Amino acid sequence: MITKLFYNASIYTPVDHGSPAAGLAQSEIKHFEHGAVLVKNGMIADIGEENKVISRTGSEKIHQKIDCKGRCFIPGFVDPHTHMCFARTREGEFEQRIQGIPYLEILKQGGGILSSVRAVAQADEDELFEVTIKNMLSALKTGTTTLEIKSGYGLDTENELKMLRVIKKVAEHTPLDVVPTFLGAHAVPLEYIDNPDAFVNLVVDEMLPAVKDQGIAEYCDVFCEQGVFSLSQSRKILKASQGLGLGIKIHADEVNDLGGGGLAAELGAVSADHLLAVSTENIDKMAKAGVIATLLPATAYSLRKPCARAKHMIERGLAVALATDCNPGSSYTWSMPFIFGLAVMNMGLSPAQALTASTLNSAYVLGMEKQAGSLDKGKQADFLMLEGKTPSILAYNAGGCPVKAVYKLGEPVSLN
Ligand SMILES: [Zn+2]
Repeated sequence: MITKLFYNASIYTPVDHGSPAAGLAQSEIKHFEHGAVLVKNGMIADIGEENKVISRTGSEKIHQKIDCKGRCFIPGFVDPHTHMCFARTREGEFEQRIQGIPYLEILKQGGGILSSVRAVAQADEDELFEVTIKNMLSALKTGTTTLEIKSGYGLDTENELKMLRVIKKVAEHTPLDVVPTFLGAHAVPLEYIDNPDAFVNLVVDEMLPAVKDQGIAEYCDVFCEQGVFSLSQSRKILKASQGLGLGIKIHADEVNDLGGGGLAAELGAVSADHLLAVSTENIDKMAKAGVIATLLPATAYSLRKPCARAKHMIERGLAVALATDCNPGSSYTWSMPFIFGLAVMNMGLSPAQALTASTLNSAYVLGMEKQAGSLDKGKQADFLMLEGKTPSILAYNAGGCPVKAVYKLGEPVSLN
């Protein structure tokens, strides 16, 4: 057994009470000013004030002692919403968008998601692997130690399965924990534009059983939006997924208030994501049902839209998580420090609320709360050493990356 002691650390961690942190709990952060973490075989064996951890260790042999030099220590980021498996970036479309052409208009012209679909169809698994692993290693460098990756640029059974195989393979080739999500209902392919119900049937009758059969996705997601999938089509797909034992989540109320947040509450989805246009009525329904609101402020930034009402959601008792939404269209970033900064500066969250949202609550979104999301005995030793004394540095050092070191299972995986 390898035992390591990280000492002289200014530790900040959310408090895991066994459920996502909602309301006041979202601001609850444990702080050990002269803290230490004892790691045994990659797991946290003890954490607390340095003198207490050392005295509890007694005469036990410590193989390695790491002086953290008073730096801030936080859990590794958990990014619970990404589309980072793709074949090509879309700079041309970005230029159209900043000239004022709306995203749904670009989508109608066969751009947006559909151009990524064409690129994925043309790419082989090796090409997809190269892009995806590059994105993941960039995320790791900025402090992400656990993340979700969705399919959704396949839109037919063969290419959706191809994406999910690539996601499985990249997971085996990096130190990150990866949670795969099937998003066959990401857009209506052009050939089904006059009969989207037939595509919904294809998702339910052919894609979902194949995905389940191969055991390569843990969640199913749907893009519920005007001009994409309606509330009733989304309900049909999500209920079928539940029937197969998959967890469910939903892209909800991003552009229009279609009631996706309410659907998430009705079906007991783990999270509803985006929520820029969600009503207060559905915020309350989600809070009551224990749904987590996964907010994606870099998408609002990239689309030049007002952010989701994060503070309002927290005040109404809805647990808030944060994610990059990393994708080649509406949010080409893998940086959780950037997301943290946007959450504090543009959504008005306190650094404490943003820390809980980007670690503990996002771990709950992925069902990874037993392993990640907070620095607690028994969890994985996934943590970050920051250049600075408090987590506020993440917002304060705008555009920078104050992540000095990334540890996964107690091992340094990125030293910046
Ligand atoms: Zn998304």
